[in-house]
Formats: sequence, structure tokens, C-alpha cells
Amino acid sequence: MPTEMTEEERKARAKDNYLKRTYNVTLAEWLTVFAYQGEVCAICKKAGTGKRAPHTDHDHKTGLFRGIVCFFCNAYLLRQRITPQMLRDAADYLENPPAVAVLGERFGPKGRINAKPRRRRRRRAA
Ligand SMILES: [Zn+2]
Repeated sequence: MPTEMTEEERKARAKDNYLKRTYNVTLAEWLTVFAYQGEVCAICKKAGTGKRAPHTDHDHKTGLFRGIVCFFCNAYLLRQRITPQMLRDAADYLENPPAVAVLGERFGPKGRINAKPRRRRRRRAA
């Protein structure tokens, strides 16, 4: 006999199955971890949708489920070849730039170099 399931229950079951199959965690366990993180990305601490939507992060080498990060942090900060030491070195670089150590603060124009100027959208006549 088919059991009546709401759309929400169906989605929760599908997510639970996906998480078990892919990361060896249940939806309840995933939600516990997400709550522990304050329901934000474990790295940038932002919540949201799109590029900031929560993504399940795991170590590709070992399969270890590490936590939940946004798409941006997962795509740019947790790339396979980036090591924790590289991120520490990058933080040190940003806080103590070598050029400033040698030359002192030198400022050029702000923004990206050689960036094309943005075109304004023309309004269509009604
Ligand atoms: Zn993030």
C-alpha cells in the first residue's frame, strides 16, 4: 500500500538517501553539524543562497566529511591542491605584504588593472 508523503517529506527522504550514499551521514547528522556551525559557511561565516548556498565538503582523498561550506569557499579555498599551510601563508601574505616591508606603502589606482569600463544599460523606450 502506498503511503502518503508530503512534498517536503519526499525531499527530506531524498536528501537523506543522497547524504547517506555520498557522505555516509544522515540528514539528521548533517543538520546537527550545520546547527553546530551556526547555520553558516564554516569558513566565511556567511549564510545564503546561490554562491553562498551550503555545500557538503569532504576530503576527496580520504572521503572524510569535514563540514558545510558555501559554494564560493568550496570552489576557491578548498581546491584539492591547496593545503592548510598555503592558506596560512596566504593570510600572512595579506597581513604582511613583502612589497610594503621593502618599499613602504605605495598606492596606485584602485580597482582591477586594465578592467574594461562597465557599460551602462540603455533603457528601452516604452
Ligand atoms: Zn563560505
